Amino acid sequence: MKIISINAGSSSLKFSLFDMSTEEVLISGVFERIGIENGVYTLKYKGEKIKVEQDLDSHLTAVKILLEKLIELQVISNLEEIEGVGHRLVHGGDKYSESVMITDEVVDDIIKFSDFAPLHNPANALCIKAFKEVLPKTPMVGVFDTAFHQTMEKERFLYPVPYSWYEDYHIRKYGAHGTSHRFIAETLKEELGDKLNIISCHLGNGGSITAIRDGKCVDTSMGFTPHAGIIMGTRSGDIDVSIVPYIMEKEGKSAGEIMDDLNKKSGFLGISGVSSDSRDIEDGIKNGNERCALAQDMYVNSIVKYIAQYYVLLGHVDVIAFTAGIGENSPETRAKVIEKLACLGIKIDLEANNVRGKFTKISTKDSKVAVYVVPTNEELMIARDTLNIINNR
Ligand code: ADP
Repeated sequence: MKIISINAGSSSLKFSLFDMSTEEVLISGVFERIGIENGVYTLKYKGEKIKVEQDLDSHLTAVKILLEKLIELQVISNLEEIEGVGHRLVHGGDKYSESVMITDEVVDDIIKFSDFAPLHNPANALCIKAFKEVLPKTPMVGVFDTAFHQTMEKERFLYPVPYSWYEDYHIRKYGAHGTSHRFIAETLKEELGDKLNIISCHLGNGGSITAIRDGKCVDTSMGFTPHAGIIMGTRSGDIDVSIVPYIMEKEGKSAGEIMDDLNKKSGFLGISGVSSDSRDIEDGIKNGNERCALAQDMYVNSIVKYIAQYYVLLGHVDVIAFTAGIGENSPETRAKVIEKLACLGIKIDLEANNVRGKFTKISTKDSKVAVYVVPTNEELMIARDTLNIINNR
């Protein structure tokens, strides 16, 4: 059975086509600059990369090209071979706590929740409509990035602000990266068994840390938006909100402009003044750049703060997991984080830690908590949910 997993942004569309009998990726790719000039798409097929420059006026055009290419490259012989489409959906508000078959009501809700994810939700809805037009009979499943965090209790997801903000405007913590954290929890369950208490550290350009008890989210570092929590590539993470009006007045900027500074010019980039990319930060440190070293130290501190908090929250922790771009590929970051957790009896095996992108135990035998690198795979999680929901109709 072939399932296609879709991740649409406002001007991009990423896809992976899976053969679910083996969970092998048959072809994957990305369409970029949709609705902007100089569109381009890249396909990865049989170890080769095919790059085509072509204007892409809409998500529908991108979807049509994608399906034509699948036939042209003989990945499929007809469109009926695609038995399901799984869509990554960014925000399901407080209505969706699991993946669902996409109906008109779901599409209406995605549009309704656009206030919470103004760039992503409208693009998700457009992309669903595009697939509906070209594959009208193929079942589609929605996998919400917020769904996994819906198990948080009220005392964890509420902000200590006037209660009417929650009642009137749904101001609360929603979290993000839920599909990735769930994939980590399920992989660890498969490998190590049931009933695990996990602290899952998704450290990418965006980053979040989640406390998981027996497969369910107890708390997470992102908040009302993906802005909150740990320091990120270009986002500040948690700050004192009073800074916003203060800088608005000092620099004569609007709230929107300050939010832009906090979203796009802060984090690694803001502190280092060099780059949002952890590899550049690590290179900077090697070359003696003090601001890069400061950015890295602050980053590590912000991660340690959440791990320590969730350690106490969970009471007992079986596994700390590192995933995503930095979590999977930066032994330096992992080592610095774990070394700061020595007071909890957590110890890193530096030799085992010298690994990238591979499921590996990186703690010592006598470490009080096992530490693992667990590569994430959100696309596969989406395809698995799609298959399950289609099979259980
Ligand atoms: P996102 O999906 O949020 O855009 P990723 O999970 O791709 O982000 O992570 C991007 C981050 O991962 C960047 O800071 C990048 O430097 C880091 N990263 C990716 N690959 C490597 C690597 N091989 N070594 C070190 N860091 C890496």
